[in-house]
Amino acid sequence: MPKKNNINFGSKKKGRVDVKKVALVSVASIVIIFGGYKLVGATASFIAEQKQEKIEMQKKAEAERLAAEKKRKEEEEAKKRMVGVNHEGKKYTYDALKVADKLKKYDYSNNGEKVVFLTFDDGTSTTVTPQILKILDEYGVKATFFLTGENIERGGSKAKELIKEEFDKGHAIANHSYSHDYKILYPNRVLNLDNFKGDFAKTDKILKDTLGPNFSTRVIRCPGGHMSWKGMEPLDQYLNENKMASIDWNALSGDAEGGRKTPAQLVEYAKKTAQGKEMVVVLMHDTYGKEATAKALPQIIEYFKSNGYEFKTLS
Ligand SMILES: [Zn+2]
Repeated sequence: MPKKNNINFGSKKKGRVDVKKVALVSVASIVIIFGGYKLVGATASFIAEQKQEKIEMQKKAEAERLAAEKKRKEEEEAKKRMVGVNHEGKKYTYDALKVADKLKKYDYSNNGEKVVFLTFDDGTSTTVTPQILKILDEYGVKATFFLTGENIERGGSKAKELIKEEFDKGHAIANHSYSHDYKILYPNRVLNLDNFKGDFAKTDKILKDTLGPNFSTRVIRCPGGHMSWKGMEPLDQYLNENKMASIDWNALSGDAEGGRKTPAQLVEYAKKTAQGKEMVVVLMHDTYGKEATAKALPQIIEYFKSNGYEFKTLS
């Protein structure tokens, strides 16, 4: 009996051990299964996350590549663009917006640095413009040409060749309207902005047709001068919004004012009106009938040279 008891006891004991074992194994299994499940889950989500991250990175890299490509193309286009002057002519340019601002304030100082802008209006003409170009070449100075579309058309292909020559030699090209007709631009002396914009757009087109699609100018001169007309505020706002400059003058040879002057009188008038100004914008004309301007030009240039002025263009 005791043996049996023992046996029973033993088997009972054995049974207990089994229960423990089973429990242990079960717990272990649960832990393993659950853990494994968790591990598999975690691995799966880790892979998914990594995939997502990779996609994001690829997207980011692609966006960066596109942005860089866009920037490169824009820079390439910007390099091709020619605002008022060709690439060579950039050396001689001065910010027209600054000059416009100074003229508006009647402030002709320039920190002790003398600068002169020779400007020629109403061209091109096939008679006077070639003489002006020759003289500028001889003195190695650059000027700004304010062109009128109607006169360009009047001069036909020869006038267009002259514009190309002006441009190729590093002079600046600016817009001085198409018609130069005060009645169209300022009926009853008051600005008509639509007429004004339409008229200037015509010359812009002629200039683009002549100098190529990469050419544009942000410099204009109002026929008769900005200072002469009423209701100019909408134009100023338009120019501001488009970073354009309207340039009048603060010195002149007087080749379009009053009676006909001799070359000597033109020289004197230019000197007199430039007197005491560090920043000088000289108004002259290279249109038909202005032969005296060409004759006066060498002495006008010499005057500014001997007085320490640097010759710049408006762009
Ligand atoms: Zn004019």
